Amino acid sequence: MNILEYWQGWLAENPLPIQVGELQLWEGYWICHKKDVLTDPLVPIPSLLDLKLKLRMDSKGLFRPLKGKPGMVRGWKFGPLDAESLFYALEGIYPLALTHWIGYKEKILLPVDFKSTIQRQVGMYQILEKGDETLIDRATREICLGQCLRQNLWWSNQPLIGSKPSSIPLVCLEACPFFLEQARKLLLKKRQPRCSA
Ligand code: SF4
Repeated sequence: MNILEYWQGWLAENPLPIQVGELQLWEGYWICHKKDVLTDPLVPIPSLLDLKLKLRMDSKGLFRPLKGKPGMVRGWKFGPLDAESLFYALEGIYPLALTHWIGYKEKILLPVDFKSTIQRQVGMYQILEKGDETLIDRATREICLGQCLRQNLWWSNQPLIGSKPSSIPLVCLEACPFFLEQARKLLLKKRQPRCSA
């Protein structure tokens, strides 16, 4: 069975509406913001590309470099879709969300520990090798817990939460580029010599 067949089977067994991050999936299939209702006067979005462009900015008009960050704009709807298009739409809005969730659920994909991620770096993130546990701990609290809807499974060793039939959890199996950049900034700040008066 491939991942699309798995997804179709899962959808058939789980009644909608279903939440994924800030999204709500409706029968049909339709996607809109979870705080909107499909019967509201929502603006139809003609294509996935248009939707992805729309969701690049948050509700305050600011760029969202981290796709898992809350603050998605409201007032739109996308559909009707078949199960396959729904799969690709969700994967586009929350990159690899379904692949990672299904892979993790079926024990095909495992979290990648932070050391392995850093050892693979050849560029500017190599400096994170010098970051101690306390720094990475602080970074995961500030960035992953504080700014992201995905559940970090590569640092916390906590079991997956929020896995109920009416929702699909957003799992995080490896440190993302946004995290690496923010952690690098934290490390550089920490290593800066203090100016004496
Ligand atoms: S590393 Fe942290 S910030 Fe990045 S996607 Fe995962 S949980 Fe979110």
